[in-house]
Amino acid sequence: MSEMLKSEDSASDVPKTALITGITGQDGSYLAELLLEKGYRVHGLARRNASQEGVNMKNLRSIQSKITIHKGDITDPFILIQLLRTIQPHEIYHLAAQSHVTQSFTTPDHTFQVNTTGTLNLLQAVVVCGLQSKTRIYNAATSELFGGTTTPNTMLTEDSPFEPKSPYAISKLAAYWLVRNYREAHGLWAVNGILFNHESSRRGSGFVTMRIARAAASYALNLNPPNPPSSSNPPPLTLAGINMARDWGHARDYVRAIWMMLQQDSPPPWDMLIATGQQRTVGGFVEAAFGRVGVTLRWVYGPDMKVTGAVDANTGRKVLQIDPSLERAVEVPCLLGDSTLAREVLGWEPTTPFETLVAEMVDSELERLERMQ
Ligand code: NDP
Repeated sequence: MSEMLKSEDSASDVPKTALITGITGQDGSYLAELLLEKGYRVHGLARRNASQEGVNMKNLRSIQSKITIHKGDITDPFILIQLLRTIQPHEIYHLAAQSHVTQSFTTPDHTFQVNTTGTLNLLQAVVVCGLQSKTRIYNAATSELFGGTTTPNTMLTEDSPFEPKSPYAISKLAAYWLVRNYREAHGLWAVNGILFNHESSRRGSGFVTMRIARAAASYALNLNPPNPPSSSNPPPLTLAGINMARDWGHARDYVRAIWMMLQQDSPPPWDMLIATGQQRTVGGFVEAAFGRVGVTLRWVYGPDMKVTGAVDANTGRKVLQIDPSLERAVEVPCLLGDSTLAREVLGWEPTTPFETLVAEMVDSELERLERMQ
């Protein structure tokens, strides 16, 4: 039986109402499932797309009859005011974003419109609707805020300085400060969650971890006929930045932390960092993903002793090609987080080891690709 949460402003048995912006994404879909389990009424803001359903329902199929989707764009302030007036949410989880760092270098204006102006629209809508004392707000900040301030094995905390290195990170830093400003100026119950990278089988297909998981699964299934192995079948995965190190957790664990933040008795000012405290390189992710399908890799080095690719150590087939054109205009070499505050205050712990995360992503891609064959 799901735990029924009562509204704080009512003695009746009315369940809490939550609004999730970005409900169709990786985190939004896991969070919607969690909130349903806890007895919430779940509303989601989702932008239109060209699919039959009118919005991207890929991650929400199993719960679509239990949630209410409102079509609209976070860049449209009027739709937000109308929506908040209608549903009067107790909790808002603001996840909608142009969330791809590399993409933000090619679409900086769009990134700012969605990530910064979108956040401003939402905060101002709460004020315009007079929901300051009723509604708690979570804002999805990111470890990319720290950017260039970090060196390998430096544990970042809530007090570490920010030095954003991409339009994405700068747009999110402005949103972070908007949240702080609105809670100071308007008394909003609003918190920034500074989340480090988190992945799952629902990760978008353009993100590096999903590209790697998909490549390992494709290699195992020997996709791209004709089937007999050859040096170019399937084409090698192209990557850059294999020495970049990240602190990777599982999205399901991270949305639990997000929910816990909004259940705290003590109102902000506080913001909270969520991370596993373990760091791996992109190359390490590649090794783990191919290892999951039984393939040991041998790295190949150029004359300058830089890695140029990787081959299957058993067959010599090329599985990875370094492509410098994929490098970000400015790289963030490493990110590693210390989530002591979350562990102490929320009692939150990550539950999914790195190897389990990678295995889940590769296995899910194997299943998906097998279904398509
Ligand atoms: P996703 O990219 O999977 O989801 C982003 C969501 O935002 C999607 O639902 C997308 O809709 C929606 N969206 C994009 N543009 C708009 C718009 N203009 N109006 C309304 N909705 C829009 O991201 P994640 O779930 O991985 O991340 C959730 C949040 O957490 C994001 O803000 C991200 O920046 C942040 N974050 C994520 C981290 C991670 O490692 N995953 C780390 C730190 C922070 P559609 O389905 O139509 O594309």
